[in-house]
Amino acid sequence: MFDAVSLVRCDEYSKEKLDFAIGRVLEEIDGLSFVHEKMTIGIKVNLVAGMAPEKAATTEPLFLRTLCEKLILKGAKVVIGDSPGGIYTSAFVHGVYRACGLTDMVKELQGQYDDGENKVSLNEDFSVKNGEFPDAVSIKNFIYTGWLDNVDAIINVSKLKTHAMMGMSCAVKNMFGTIPGTTKPEYHMRFSNEQAFANVMVDLNEYFKPCLYLVDAIDGMEGNGPTAGEKRHIGCVLSSKKPYALDMVCADIIGMKLSEVPTLLAAKERGLGPDNVSEVTVCGDLQLSEIRVTDFKRATIHQSITFDGNGIIGKLQSKALMIVFNTKPNVKEKECIGCKKCHETCPAHAITMVRSDKANSGKGGMIPQIDRSKCIKCFCCQEFCPKGAMKVQYNPLGRFVNKVNHR
Ligand code: SF4
Ligand code: SF4
Repeated sequence: MFDAVSLVRCDEYSKEKLDFAIGRVLEEIDGLSFVHEKMTIGIKVNLVAGMAPEKAATTEPLFLRTLCEKLILKGAKVVIGDSPGGIYTSAFVHGVYRACGLTDMVKELQGQYDDGENKVSLNEDFSVKNGEFPDAVSIKNFIYTGWLDNVDAIINVSKLKTHAMMGMSCAVKNMFGTIPGTTKPEYHMRFSNEQAFANVMVDLNEYFKPCLYLVDAIDGMEGNGPTAGEKRHIGCVLSSKKPYALDMVCADIIGMKLSEVPTLLAAKERGLGPDNVSEVTVCGDLQLSEIRVTDFKRATIHQSITFDGNGIIGKLQSKALMIVFNTKPNVKEKECIGCKKCHETCPAHAITMVRSDKANSGKGGMIPQIDRSKCIKCFCCQEFCPKGAMKVQYNPLGRFVNKVNHR
């Protein structure tokens, strides 16, 4: 049997509503039973990039603050951390903390609970460690962010978003932020197959074993997630002690099937996750049918998993489907500011910067050019483009079929 998932409506980021909703989801599953006095809890948030909370790409500060207050009241100390895309240094990550609204939030909270010792802080340890995980499917040896060794327990707080490579970014995918930003592209390259990459996420959840997971699905992101999509109101908060049933419920809320989310498929194949949402016990104040968003826009379709055919006919069919649904990163030149972030993050070194008259300024500038023969379609360039200029492009037939399919 899978761990229960609690689901409570929450329509806005106000103190009162968050306090109620987070309190209720935790109460339903006895979520804070592991917390004891003097414990240090690491909250692994989602700081994919330095983006304002209104963009709905990163953990909302008031949501986080509400959770921190509940932990502090139980006598725990809290450290908040993540490794965004980019260099894993104090200066860079502090820039991301600031942009995401966490620096001010933590300062206010420190003022509120000022008794000589910091009850809450942003992670300041930017060391990296070597991990060994013999039971892993993908990452038996890996590099991770050292701050996680200094805490007694981990809580994973994610956003519900689409993801160009993994279909959905939620509780399971959030653990990829335990890998230092500069190592992430290397792992995309090492595990360029979707299934192997999905197993990296499952391995990380199994290695670090967070004690609790919370999902902020008040405002999620649809379309070109996890950074370049559009904010989409969903209106709920979820929690569970394990991530797989939780992600299954989240996928169901935004109308995604198991076949569209490789991390769910990987968990199911390893006997860790459910086959479908009917296997999950959902508790709380809401029925799933009351919160489903049936027209949530996808980022892309995952041909390598969805279209596995057997026999000659099956293989021909899957080949045809792969052509129809083929996607690739493509730069919208007018929106590109020539910052080179895509060039720097591309794990396959498929991007070179070239001069173009069509660049953002209109007066000529540098834009990325993609060598398609090298591209492994990891969509890191799309994920880390600060202007949303790198788009996921379908071929026209795929775009049409996709539209009809998701109506
Ligand atoms: S061009 Fe983009 S999608 Fe292709 S390998 Fe580089 S980062 Fe990944
Ligand atoms: S596509 Fe995005 S990341 Fe790449 S240079 Fe242009 S603005 Fe920067």
